[in-house]
Amino acid sequence: MRGFEWAEPDTVDGALEAAGGETAYLAGGTTLVDLMKLQVMNPSRVVAVNRLPLGGIRVDSEGLHLGALARMSEVAEHPEVVRGYPVISRALLLSASQQLRNMASMGGNLLQRTRCPYFRDVAKACNKRAPGSGCAALDGFNRTHAILGTSSHCVATHASDVAVALIALDATVHLRGAAGSRTVQLASLYRTPGSTPHVENTLRPGELITGITVPPLAWARNSTYLKIRDRQSYEFALTSAAVALKTRGRRIEDARVAVGGVGTMPWRLPEVEAALRGKVAGARTFEDAAAHATEGARPLSHNAFKIPLLRRTLVRALLSLEA
Ligand code: SF4
Repeated sequence: MRGFEWAEPDTVDGALEAAGGETAYLAGGTTLVDLMKLQVMNPSRVVAVNRLPLGGIRVDSEGLHLGALARMSEVAEHPEVVRGYPVISRALLLSASQQLRNMASMGGNLLQRTRCPYFRDVAKACNKRAPGSGCAALDGFNRTHAILGTSSHCVATHASDVAVALIALDATVHLRGAAGSRTVQLASLYRTPGSTPHVENTLRPGELITGITVPPLAWARNSTYLKIRDRQSYEFALTSAAVALKTRGRRIEDARVAVGGVGTMPWRLPEVEAALRGKVAGARTFEDAAAHATEGARPLSHNAFKIPLLRRTLVRALLSLEA
């Protein structure tokens, strides 16, 4: 690990003042510390944010509010989240390990870096780590990589489970920076790689996530998250699905669908949602809708299996909901 300056402010303003140059904010440390040890990330300054007053979980008429420093395990087990937003609770409980969930913050989770093994190996070409160096995954072992939102410069998947659930529910993120506060849709925080895979989000320099809001949605009670992976714990998704259905009798009035493990960012599927609306819930409807999930998908040499697997993941997730 290379040397760096350290700051540990106890106010948001103090954190923004301390940020500068090549700054990294440190919360749970469950991604950043690993990457600094591997010299994949080499910030000249680390600003620890755990003393900032950015915790807390509450529900009011505006929806569910999650402080950026609320820990994954706190959110997963919160009674209002379990009851009102099971898709969020399940996505969190299927992430990482209990020890990591106790440490990792919600804000940090949204900004975690990819698990592409070539990104973490400084001996390999990686446009995300070293712009212009190439992409070792294109001709390498790319079984776990993305099929949606890829480019010829990068095919890495986004690793967060809970971001998939939050995007399905139209969550917004609250940001503070030198120019003040702003709120953006979580979906617009992320960027597909294009020709600049090292630019992963639309944060401005030094900007800090302060919180997350999930708008009220009574039928989010009828939601779930299904994650398919090589082993049943402590593993990233090959495919995953966050789904919610609003039904009257067996008729689907509305739907929310997003998927993970397949996209270069958490991937909302409006075509699938449209194909579900107005239909009678059941296997045939779900299979027809799921066929839209992989429109535009570009499989690589080792991951074409994700196309049928993603469709089956969606169907199984939808069948598990009440209708
Ligand atoms: Fe790097 Fe992206 Fe290629 Fe992985 S897929 S080696 S992260 S450029």
